[in-house]
Amino acid sequence: MQRFAFNLHSRDGAARCGTITTSRGEIRTPAFMPVGTAGTVKAMLPGSVRETGADILLGNTYHLMLRPGAERIAGLGGLHRFMNWDRPILTDSGGFQVMSLADLRKLTETGVTFRSHIDGSKHELTPERSMEIQRLLGSDIVMAFDECPALPAEGSRVAESMRLSMRWAERSKAAFGDRPGHALFGIQQGGVTRELREESAEALRAIGFDGYAVGGLAVGEGQEAMFGVLDYACDMLPDDRPRYLMGVGKPDDIVGAVKRGIDMMDCVLPSRSGRTGQAFTRRGVVNLKNARHADDPRPLDAECTCPACRSYSRAYLHHVFRAGEMISGMLLTWHNLHYFQEIMAGMRKAIAEGAFAEWEADFHATRAAGDIEPA
Ligand SMILES: [Zn+2]
Repeated sequence: MQRFAFNLHSRDGAARCGTITTSRGEIRTPAFMPVGTAGTVKAMLPGSVRETGADILLGNTYHLMLRPGAERIAGLGGLHRFMNWDRPILTDSGGFQVMSLADLRKLTETGVTFRSHIDGSKHELTPERSMEIQRLLGSDIVMAFDECPALPAEGSRVAESMRLSMRWAERSKAAFGDRPGHALFGIQQGGVTRELREESAEALRAIGFDGYAVGGLAVGEGQEAMFGVLDYACDMLPDDRPRYLMGVGKPDDIVGAVKRGIDMMDCVLPSRSGRTGQAFTRRGVVNLKNARHADDPRPLDAECTCPACRSYSRAYLHHVFRAGEMISGMLLTWHNLHYFQEIMAGMRKAIAEGAFAEWEADFHATRAAGDIEPA
């Protein structure tokens, strides 16, 4: 079986361009991972997601363990077969979503017990159970089970939580075992405190992981604080392993993260926004529900090659959103995912050519110009 590997091809400043090899195919980095929460990237067929340029999807342990259940998915051949996506899948550990979605959570050294937000049933997640669920799903990149306090949080609470996550990281590694072709990533915590980030990175390096995530960011601290942490946090993690920034983000967050040495990211934003009439374009966010588009025969973005821009007018996209037609979410999700992958491809090319600064300047200048004038 093809072993998990990471090869860096080029660097430009702190930005890196490389390839992650898995038994289910290669992932070009920097990579953006669309989120397939409950076994689907909402409003998209897997083949369409692939067409936008995605090499890997993210699946959510919390959602899948509650519905339809990890054992059921395993019995049906695993998540890849179940959702008809044969390329790599990364699964989160469930920790973050238990904290944000579940009812009546009880946190102990062992793990978390909680009630399902769907039917109130009682469940437990521990590092061991999280590893088991991710194995049952057939995940290619497994995340260590961690706990993440929402920011702002008191310093002592952040430190306590980070140290618990490091003990859980060790248990995750032991429970994961030796699984050739599959990878286990550790997650750095420590909020926005440099000393805690260093302590966390040291603990993770001592355990040893196939990749390292920067966790506990994009939870309300703001972009400036996030970039401030990334300025030092990336350097604390092994240079020869992929670095994954969880749950990020908006296009300018993504660009700023890659500039600081991040290789992988995921976010629900392109798909979620697509269902609420919001399009991300080279010229910033365009709100299709706005009446200014009602008579506009022009495409959303004349230079975009996605189906929404190639075959439909702004007037049509406005109409189907207002009419509540399903094609609205389908087209805008496709466009948004396509645009996010275009940003990634643009950055990979720029890093390879040593032209990241020029690419970044152009990215910001085009956005600053704003949307085209009303027709
Ligand atoms: Zn488009």
